[in-house]
Amino acid sequence: MSTADGDAEGFTTRILHSDRRDGIEHGSLHKPVHASVAYGYNDARDLAAVFQGSQSGYSYGRQSNPTVEALQRKITRMEGGVGSIAFGTGMGAIGSTLFALLERGDHVVSSSFLFGNTNSLFASFAGLGLEVDFVDATSAAAVARALRPETRLVFVEAIANPRTQVADLEGIGELCRQRGLLYVVDNTMTSPWLFQPRTVGAGLVINALTKYIAGHGSVLGGAVTDTGLFDWRSFPNIFEGYRKHPPQQWGLQQIRKKGLRDFGASLAPDAAQLVALGAETLALRMDRACANARALADMLARHDRVERVFYPGLPDHPEYERAARLFRHPGAILSFELDPKLDLFEFLNRLEVVVSSSNLGDNRTLAIPVAHTIYFEMGPERRASMDIRDTLIRISVGIEDERDLLADFERALAGG
Ligand SMILES: *Cc1c(COP(=O)(O)O)cnc(C)c1O
Repeated sequence: MSTADGDAEGFTTRILHSDRRDGIEHGSLHKPVHASVAYGYNDARDLAAVFQGSQSGYSYGRQSNPTVEALQRKITRMEGGVGSIAFGTGMGAIGSTLFALLERGDHVVSSSFLFGNTNSLFASFAGLGLEVDFVDATSAAAVARALRPETRLVFVEAIANPRTQVADLEGIGELCRQRGLLYVVDNTMTSPWLFQPRTVGAGLVINALTKYIAGHGSVLGGAVTDTGLFDWRSFPNIFEGYRKHPPQQWGLQQIRKKGLRDFGASLAPDAAQLVALGAETLALRMDRACANARALADMLARHDRVERVFYPGLPDHPEYERAARLFRHPGAILSFELDPKLDLFEFLNRLEVVVSSSNLGDNRTLAIPVAHTIYFEMGPERRASMDIRDTLIRISVGIEDERDLLADFERALAGG
């Protein structure tokens, strides 16, 4: 028992035995699905004490649930943090966290290489009186230039999609530490198996559980983890009522109340159990998907019907060395530009193993034509400014047998 929370045990061992060691009724090895929204108390004083925070317990399913809490503990262990809050989706986690922590007049510096919906969310926040600057986060100097006295947080993704830029995670971490700024890292593309943002000084870590952590493309979920590194006493937006607890808890407390409780993007207990099942094999699946991605990137980079390939594991990638230093593997997402003489859609239709689909982090390999789908709403000028060409295809590499995957691409590239 003593080693359960220590660093001595490996990542997968800790996840597999997390529920059991926390003690489950009947000795069951999986945390059961607690499908109750409400919790009853024999002594009404206990109910009041739970509400007032002087006693731990459950009050209402939107705010907490035993199955969801078991998953939160697993995520905290995976990220090496001090606490986590789960949400119904990754966007629920990002939106609720930012909404809970930011106020009118605040300034945010964000990477310009951003998941499309997060980008759209920041645009909505801008309409509510927040100011957001988008900068090239592969350079900490660009982030430093954008900082102002009203800057409250810096937001980046570890690896951005579809072009796989790797943020200057260490440099920005150092900058935020010096300036006392909250550093928020979206770790979805790397997952805690490839990278723990805590190691570069992140205060909050976001994971879209939908992607690698759940892994099977069968459930939505999101989470925010407090790494314990940020000193919440230097954050001016914490409400007076939440300052009664020890400062380490201020941030999550406010996110739980103002974000989860008031916005209500809660994770359902049956979804939490599906995510927890997926999390057990995160390391195994990612090792395999990343090995496949490397083999596929090598093959595509050599192919004469492929123009540019973007994968942080290729030596000509601008952040190749950074990715090698920071990540266990360079990820399982790559993108490439097809020879414009080939019809993009006919090429995708020739793939038999690979599925045309918008998700990522599934066990199955998925392909999507970027400019026509996830970046369509931006329009041609914004796409051009981001160097997103019409021939760009994003691949989320799955765990198929490598041979079958490579053969599928060879066949589709040879046709037409
Ligand atoms: C998918 C994704 C999200 C949003 O997650 P959902 O569960 O789809 O809401 C956020 N950030 C990144 C980097 C993602 O890939």
